[in-house]
Amino acid sequence: MTVLRSGSATDVGRVRGSNQDLHLVTDDLFAVADGMGGHAGGEVAARDAVEALQRAFRSDPSLEGLRHAVAAANTAVWNHSQQSSELRGMGTTLTALALVPDENGQDVLALANVGDSRAYLYTDGGVTQLTADHSLAEEKVRHGELTEAEAAVHPHRHILTRALGISPDVEVDVWTLRLRTGDRVLLCSDGLSNEVSIEGIAQVLASVHDPNEAAQALVAAANEHGGSDNITAVVVDVMAGGLEDAPATVAAGYDAAEAVEMARPARRRPPSPGEPVGDDGPSGSRLGEGAAPLSGGGGGTATALDVRPATAPPDVSPADIGQEGPPPPAVAGPAGERLSRRQRRRRAGIAPWFTVRVALFLLLLVGVVAAGYGFIHWYATDNWFVTVDGDHLVIYQGRPGGLLWFDPKLVDRTPVTTSEVLSIHLSDLHADVEETSLRAAKAYVDNLHQEYLDQQQVNQAPTVPSTTVPATTVPAVPTTVPPG
Ligand code: MN
Repeated sequence: MTVLRSGSATDVGRVRGSNQDLHLVTDDLFAVADGMGGHAGGEVAARDAVEALQRAFRSDPSLEGLRHAVAAANTAVWNHSQQSSELRGMGTTLTALALVPDENGQDVLALANVGDSRAYLYTDGGVTQLTADHSLAEEKVRHGELTEAEAAVHPHRHILTRALGISPDVEVDVWTLRLRTGDRVLLCSDGLSNEVSIEGIAQVLASVHDPNEAAQALVAAANEHGGSDNITAVVVDVMAGGLEDAPATVAAGYDAAEAVEMARPARRRPPSPGEPVGDDGPSGSRLGEGAAPLSGGGGGTATALDVRPATAPPDVSPADIGQEGPPPPAVAGPAGERLSRRQRRRRAGIAPWFTVRVALFLLLLVGVVAAGYGFIHWYATDNWFVTVDGDHLVIYQGRPGGLLWFDPKLVDRTPVTTSEVLSIHLSDLHADVEETSLRAAKAYVDNLHQEYLDQQQVNQAPTVPSTTVPATTVPAVPTTVPPG
C-alpha cells in the first residue's frame, strides 16, 4: 500500500495583482493549474479545470481515467468560455498527478500534462524534469531549431502551443511513474520554474524534508529571484509502498529516467536496467495515441511508445542531473515577464493582439470605404440643376449626367413652362443650370419667370400710359378777382 504525504504553497508573486494559479491536493490526486485570460478569465479557467478534473477522476480513478479527466477539464473550460464574451479565449495549463493501480493492480503514479506547468522527479538526490513544456520555444528545442540555452531566453518561451480550454479537443501527455519510497514529485507553475534553476529546486528538495516546508521554501526562492509571476508548488512524497526491492543506487540501474515511462497500451513490462531511452519528447509520439485504449491488447506500438520526457537524460546520475535540466533562466524582470504573459494570453486567446489588430485594420478599412462612399455620395447629390423636360422647367438633384452609380433625381416639376421664360435663357436651360441648393434652384426658376412677367409688362407699357393715365389737367378753378 502506497502512502503519500504532500504539501503545497502558492503565492501571487511580487508583480502580479492576482493569483491565477490554482492547485489541488487530496489523498490521491494532485494538480497545478495556471490560468490565463483577461479579467477573471484565468481564475475561472483554472477553477473550471481543477473542479472538472476532480469530478471526472472520482468517477474513474485509473490511469486512463486521469487522461479522460484532463480531457473533461478541457471540455469544461472550453464550454464555459463559449458562454460569455468576457471569458472567451481563457485557458489554463494543467499538470496532474494521481495514485492509481496499474494493469497488475500495483500502485503507480500517473502524470498528465497540458501546457507549461511542470512536474519534476526528485530521486537519489537528483532532479529530473518529467514533463515537456508545450511552449513554442520548447517545441523548437525538440525540433533542433533552438538549444536549451537559447530557449531559456527566447522571447517566445512562454507562448503555449497547448493549453486547456482553447479548443474543443486537447492532446494530453500521460506518463506512469513507478516510484520508490523516498522519491518526491514536484508539480509547479512556471512562476517557479522560470525563477529557480533546476539546481536550486534540487537543493531545496534535498534539504527540506517536510513537503509543506519544501513547497514554501520553493515559493520563497522564486520570490527572491523576482517573483514576476504567480508561484505554485505541490510536493508529493512517497512515504511507503514504493519499489522496496529496487536497487538503491543509480549504478544498479534504477534512475530517474528509467522510472518514467509513457502510459501506453503496449508498455506493460517494467523498465529494465540499461535499456536505451528514447530521446523523443512526448510531442514525438502524439500521432493517434490519444485514442488508443490503455487497457487494450499490447503489441505493435512499442516503437512509438518508447518515449521519454525530453529532458530525461539517458544515463542520468545524481551528480549531473543538475546540468541536464534546462539552464537556469535569466531572472526575468517585471517588464519582460509582463510581456511574456501577454504573449501567453495571445496564445491562449488565439492571438488576441492579432485579432485586435485585424479588427482595428478592418474597422479602419470599413471607415475609409464608408468615408469614401460618403464623400462620393455627398458630392454626387449635394447639387441641383434646372433643366427642361418637355414644356416644363424641372429641378433635378444630382450632377448633370449623373456621377458613378448616382443618377440625378427629379425633385420638382415646376408649373413654369418654356414659353413663360425669356427665350434667351432656353439654351442655358437645355444645357442644365446648376445651383448649390434646391432653394437656389427654385429661386432661379422664379426669377426667370418673374423676369418674363416683367418683360411682358414692359412690352405693354407704351400703350398703357396713353390709355390708362389721364393727361394731367388743371381743373379750372374759378378765380376771384379781388375788387380792385
Ligand atoms: Mn504562470
